[in-house]
Amino acid sequence: APTPIGARRVVLKLSGEVFGGGAVGVDPNVVRHMARQIATVSRRGVQVAVVVGGGNFFRGAELSRAGMDRSRADYMGMLGTVMNCLALQDFLEKEGIDTRVQSAISMAQVAEPYIPRRAIRHLEKGRVVIFGAGAGMPYFSTDTVAAQRALEIHAHMVLMSKNGVDGVYTADPRTDPTARKLDSLTFAEALLQGLRVVDQTAFSLCQENALPMLVFGAEGEDNVARALSGERIGTLITA
Ligand code: UDP
Repeated sequence: APTPIGARRVVLKLSGEVFGGGAVGVDPNVVRHMARQIATVSRRGVQVAVVVGGGNFFRGAELSRAGMDRSRADYMGMLGTVMNCLALQDFLEKEGIDTRVQSAISMAQVAEPYIPRRAIRHLEKGRVVIFGAGAGMPYFSTDTVAAQRALEIHAHMVLMSKNGVDGVYTADPRTDPTARKLDSLTFAEALLQGLRVVDQTAFSLCQENALPMLVFGAEGEDNVARALSGERIGTLITA
């Protein structure tokens, strides 16, 4: 299987769980640790764009099950991601890294609008670009947005960090003791097996466009830095 070595422009997906350290809201210590890892790799010349999740605040599907209108709940979810973006921006700038937040929902006081060509320019200048507010559309997930942004800005790979799991398994390792971790697989296999570790829409977008995806655990001393550097941790999924 191909290795991600040499991937110079990457999109990193950080879920809301990462920001909250498992709780609601933002855990500054966790965000600082993430920012340090991203800063280290960015200083080495890797172009890093981050797509930020928001599950530490709201998930549209959950609110909708509790009685809210789905679309309105999804907008709340998207707004939550922007708070995570600002936290990450702050800690990255404390590390001396220039950053730009681009939001898919316009809010000029805190973020630029999403302008892909401008995002590419920022990356070329060594800035870390942080994408917030998902796709700006209800019924989507930030996993899918990570794949879409990676395609649109011509990233070499999309890196899906996960909490509580360090790659793709043959079954849910939390419930099935026979579950085995996979080194690599194809998107077709991921789709066929109905794997839920990443959104199916994200899998099919990557499959159609032959964009490699690395699924890896965000926890651990320097897992994010290792994945960003092109180390083959976790599970590599290819077309
Ligand atoms: N969301 C959305 N459209 C998008 C991205 C996100 O409606 O393009 C909403 C959706 O309600 C989702 C919430 O924002 O539940 C938070 O995003 P996500 O669940 O992907 O965050 P994560 O699970 O990565 O923390």
